[in-house]
Amino acid sequence: MPDDLLQLEKRHQWHPFTPMQAWCAEDHEPLMLVSGQGCTLTDQHGREYLDGNSSIWTNIHGHNHPTISAAIRAQLDRVAHTSFLGFTHEPAIQLGKQLVDLLPGSALSRVFYSDDGSTAIECAMRMALQYWKQNGGEQRDTILAFDRAYHGDTLGAASVGGIPVFKGSGNDFGYKTLRVPHLDALELLTSDQVERLAAVIIEPLIQGSAGMRLWPQGMLAKLSAWCRERDIFLILDEVMTGFGRTGSMFACQREGVTPDFLCLAKGLTGGCLPMAATMTTERVFEGFLGAGRAFYYGHSYTASQLGCAAALGSLQVFREERVMEHLPAKIEIFTQLVNSLKDLPQVMDVRQCGLIAGIEIGPYPAEELRGSKVCLAARKHGLLTRPVVDTIVLMPPLAVTDGEMQRMVNAVRLGIEEVFG
Ligand SMILES: *Cc1c(COP(=O)(O)O)cnc(C)c1O
Repeated sequence: MPDDLLQLEKRHQWHPFTPMQAWCAEDHEPLMLVSGQGCTLTDQHGREYLDGNSSIWTNIHGHNHPTISAAIRAQLDRVAHTSFLGFTHEPAIQLGKQLVDLLPGSALSRVFYSDDGSTAIECAMRMALQYWKQNGGEQRDTILAFDRAYHGDTLGAASVGGIPVFKGSGNDFGYKTLRVPHLDALELLTSDQVERLAAVIIEPLIQGSAGMRLWPQGMLAKLSAWCRERDIFLILDEVMTGFGRTGSMFACQREGVTPDFLCLAKGLTGGCLPMAATMTTERVFEGFLGAGRAFYYGHSYTASQLGCAAALGSLQVFREERVMEHLPAKIEIFTQLVNSLKDLPQVMDVRQCGLIAGIEIGPYPAEELRGSKVCLAARKHGLLTRPVVDTIVLMPPLAVTDGEMQRMVNAVRLGIEEVFG
């Protein structure tokens, strides 16, 4: 990196989830990414890497996809952003219709836009709580969440998170939350606790930030039935699993479940621009009708025109390139490749769902940073990814080729061998 940029970086920047002392150390040169094409990213020295975690779980069709780029450019020539408070615009209208059509026959017919995963979750929780408050369910003031859940970093989203380190201050804050370890624990709740539940929130099929931990098959369907029987809202956080990652467009479709709220973000724009959507039912929507009633929530960039255009571009790619039809064959190869790592004695577990994999090498004492070291070693072999502690994450864009998957897994193998060698 040019010296002047390096100095400015270390003097003024502060990065998320990053120990800044090591980052700013004299001998550390941060990787600076300058361009991307397909699944390849290029750094300041012209070195190329495969994007092994889809740029933190966002990218879907590869970088610089011509269809999405063209959609953004065309929108830019009209207008970049206008307010959604008191006005509407065509990209948002078209996107809403297309999102609803992705869930044919489901009850999810209303779309509320926001900016990122955390705000999509905030919307769902606030809608659920306000719904009950103004529709005869005043006692329903609690959200049930699961241990090791991750739903984002804003105050409300973090309050239903179940990973203590992500709570930062460690304070008990935000929404009234009841946390349980797994489905069976629901049976242990008192009737008083159940009566106070406004909603249950879960990452369907797989908990991402917990280290790619899979829920047992059928768990989601059972949870959905449990909620239905008690008229408790089900909020599905598909911020990571949405848009094909698990092999179907949405993870909930794998178990035939329709939630009351579906939260979408990361892959919504194909990973190009920040944008989120919270989808819900007519029932919830109607609970906000009537004189003086409104959902008191919104952001300056709600339904950003550029974001909507990018999302429309991404959905166009899904259709034109028959992305979902090509997925099963890719997933089969991915499954074989990541499981082949089990022959390494350091690999304790490989957890995989669709094009998402967690390769666990631990547990080691956290201060040994083994997971990070493996990812750094893999970088020398042309792979970019980040671990969750001792779990190496591989989550390629859906556009990944067989050869690229092979190279990614090979880089992980070389990285593990190097660190433990
Ligand atoms: C990333 C993530 C979020 C938070 O999304 P942001 O866009 O980072 O706010 C919420 N839930 C899940 C499951 C995620 O993976």
